[in-house]
Amino acid sequence: MSRILIRNGEVVTAVDRYRGDVLIEDAKISLIGASLADIQADKVIDASGKYVLPGGIDVHTHLDMPFGGTTSADDFESGTIAAAFGGTTSIVDFAIQYKGQTLHHAWETWMKKAERRAVIDYGFHMIMTDLNDQTELEMDALVRQGVTSFKLFMAYRGIFMLDDGSIFRALLRTGQNGGTICMHAENGDVIDVLVQRALAQGRTAPKYHALTRPARAEAEATHRAIALAEIAEVPVYIVHLSAAEALEMVTEARDRGLPAYAETCPQYLFLSYDNYEEPGFDGAKYVMSPPLREKATQAELWRGLAFNDLQCISTDHCPFCMKEQKELGRTDFSKIPNGAPGIETRMSLVYDGGVREGRISLNRFVELTSTSPARIFGLFPRKGTIAPGSDADIVVFDPNRAITLSARTLHMKVDYNPYEGRQVTGAADTVLSRGRVVIENGTFVGRPGSGSFLKRATRS
Ligand SMILES: [Zn+2]
Repeated sequence: MSRILIRNGEVVTAVDRYRGDVLIEDAKISLIGASLADIQADKVIDASGKYVLPGGIDVHTHLDMPFGGTTSADDFESGTIAAAFGGTTSIVDFAIQYKGQTLHHAWETWMKKAERRAVIDYGFHMIMTDLNDQTELEMDALVRQGVTSFKLFMAYRGIFMLDDGSIFRALLRTGQNGGTICMHAENGDVIDVLVQRALAQGRTAPKYHALTRPARAEAEATHRAIALAEIAEVPVYIVHLSAAEALEMVTEARDRGLPAYAETCPQYLFLSYDNYEEPGFDGAKYVMSPPLREKATQAELWRGLAFNDLQCISTDHCPFCMKEQKELGRTDFSKIPNGAPGIETRMSLVYDGGVREGRISLNRFVELTSTSPARIFGLFPRKGTIAPGSDADIVVFDPNRAITLSARTLHMKVDYNPYEGRQVTGAADTVLSRGRVVIENGTFVGRPGSGSFLKRATRS
C-alpha cells in the first residue's frame, strides 16, 4: 500500500475550512486529523500556507472533437495534462451521436479517444442528434453504464439541432431512467436567419458572429427548455449560460421551485463583446456559442453564482488554433470554428476574480468548481469533497502565487490564449488524481492512460 501524507495545509471544502493533515492510502483519502505527524508515509507533501482543495471538476469539455471540418486542438492527453496543471482532476466530456448512429457506437468511439491518453478521470455526456424509438431505448442502457446525462441542442439545424418534440421525448425518458438532460439553449432558426442576412449584406467579420446571436435568442430557448422540462416533470441543466436575460429565466424558474440548473464559464465572467472589436481577424479568438456579451452582464452572472441561481462553473474548453483552424472563417464569420481554450485557466481565474475580488467566498469557490458539479452529475461523494473514503483527488493550491496567463507558458495545444498577459494570483502547486501525484512543482509527473472512465450515478 502506498501512503501519502499532506501536512500543515488549510483544508477547504464547500462547507469546511480548518488546519489539518490528510492521509491518502492508495487511491483514497483514509484519515484526516489536526495532526497526523506520527504516521509513517512514503511521501510527505508540505502544504504550509496553502489550501488543500478537492480537485476541480470540469463538466463541459470538448477534447478531440470534430467541428466544422476540423478537430479541436487538444486530445485527451494534452487536454487532461493541461487540466491537471490548472487544478482540475475530473472532466465530463461529450460523446457525439451523429445521425443514423447508435448511442453505443458514439460512446465506444469516445472511450477509444480517451483510453491510454487521459491522465485524470473522465466521464461522458451523450450528445443526441437523432432521437427515434431505438435511441430512446438506448438511453436507458447508457444510463446503466454510467453515462447518465444527455446533451441536446436547440441550435445548429441540420447538424446537432433537435425539434421540440424530440427534446420533450428525451426529457420524458429521463423521468424514467434517472438521467439528466443538458441543454444548449439558443434559438437556432432565428440565428440562422440573422446569419444569412448579415452575410448577404457583406458583414463577414468575426464580430458578426456575436451580433447574429442575440441575448434574447438565448433567453427564449432557455425559457422553452425549462418549460418543456416542467411539463415533463424532470430537471434540466442549461449549459454555458452567458446572457443576463437567460439567467432571469433560470432565476424565475428556481423561484417557483423548479429543478432548473445552469452553469456559466470563465469567458463570460472575464471577457466581453469588446473583444470582438480587436483589430484585424483577432476577434475570431473569441468566436464561441453563445458569444461573449456586454460587459455589464458579468456582474449579473457573478450575482447568479453568489446566490445559487447558477450552480457550476465549467469551461466549454474547445480550442482551435488561429492558424489553419480559426482562419477557415477569414472571409465568413459563420465558418470560424466555434470554441476557445479554458480547461487550464478556470481555477486560477475564478479564484482571482471571484474569491480575491470578494465576489464569492472560498467555500463557494470550491462548491462551484468541484462539489456542485459532482452532485449534479452523479460523482458525489466519491469526488467533489475531501472526506475519508473519497477519491484522493486533491489540489494543493497556493493562494499567493501570481502567474501570467500566456499561450507560451500554458499547456493547452493552441496558438493563442484569450487571456494573454493577464495576471492572476492563486494557482495549483501539487495535484493528485486518485492518490497519484500528477503535477509537482510545476512539472507533469503523471502517466498518459492512468485516468479512468467515471461510471456516474443517476439522480437520487
Ligand atoms: Zn460545449
